[in-house]
Amino acid sequence: MKNIYKNSPKNLNKAKKLLRKNNIIVVPTETVYGLAGNAYSNSSIKKIYKLKKRPKINPLIIHYNNIHSVKKDAYLDEKFIKLYKKFSPGPLTYILKKKKNSKISMLANANLETIAVRFPKNKIVRDLLQNLEFPLAIPSANISSAISPVNCVDVLDEFGKKIKFILDGGTAKIGLESTVVNLHGKTQILRPGSISKKQISQVLKKKISILKKINKITSPGLLKRHYSPGIPVKLNCKKKEDKAAFIVFGKKYRNGNGVFNLSKSGNLKEAARKLYKTLRKIKNLKYKKINVVKIPNSKIGIAINDRLKKAAY
Ligand code: AMP
Ligand code: MG
Repeated sequence: MKNIYKNSPKNLNKAKKLLRKNNIIVVPTETVYGLAGNAYSNSSIKKIYKLKKRPKINPLIIHYNNIHSVKKDAYLDEKFIKLYKKFSPGPLTYILKKKKNSKISMLANANLETIAVRFPKNKIVRDLLQNLEFPLAIPSANISSAISPVNCVDVLDEFGKKIKFILDGGTAKIGLESTVVNLHGKTQILRPGSISKKQISQVLKKKISILKKINKITSPGLLKRHYSPGIPVKLNCKKKEDKAAFIVFGKKYRNGNGVFNLSKSGNLKEAARKLYKTLRKIKNLKYKKINVVKIPNSKIGIAINDRLKKAAY
């Protein structure tokens, strides 16, 4: 397809040129595919919000290559350093206090005193970041509140011809958005992801909680309805209703006849990887509703249930 570009030195250069001119491109990451733009440029950030139809109060995650490149934009404390050493590069996003003289566009962090920072692990996006003079704002490459894309075809499903340049990185390894941890003020998980509360607590040697009630000030973007396939989703179902698509988990169930198994072997990581792909497939098959069985609420299952709850809202 025309606007999909293979990973090659030539195409990476093309991507860099586009970003330097404040254009928006799509990049793969280990979590999901993202819309990438120059985080220092107001015009780039405006384009991202417009493309996604994202509410301006929902701030973006700024992606960096390493700890040195983030120093000029945010204050780094001991908790951050400990977590960084253990989990970065990888699917963990840190909320840090923004420096006054940071060049990050105020539109990117919804004018808050903090910024969200991540160091992606995916080799392609790392190669891209390495030779740029600015960090990249990269939200998921979907229309706001819809299902996140895990491959190039999903991106086209979301945006059609509006996106001119997609770097192909195959299927996203993790398939769910990063864990977001707040480090400015109360240490707390704002969004569960593949790095669990337990893992973070162990490194900080401190019990932490997952944010339950959405607080407008600390986390304006954690909107209740999200990851939505656009049809009713019913959770914790014991059996399939008439004409519904049935999302199941574990060896008790078989695929076919409207039944979609996230992992026959009962592997939660596999289920996470397949969740968005399955929701998108069901949406495109024009089912009118979705039933979902109970998914174990441990490890990455907590993040799966978080996304399902928001899809059902
Ligand atoms: P997405 O870009 O779709 O992966 O979503 C980014 C998530 O990070 C949203 O849930 C935002 O609310 C959250 N986020 C980004 N910046 C901040 C910030 N400064 N404070 C709190 N949450 C943030
Ligand atoms: Mg998103």
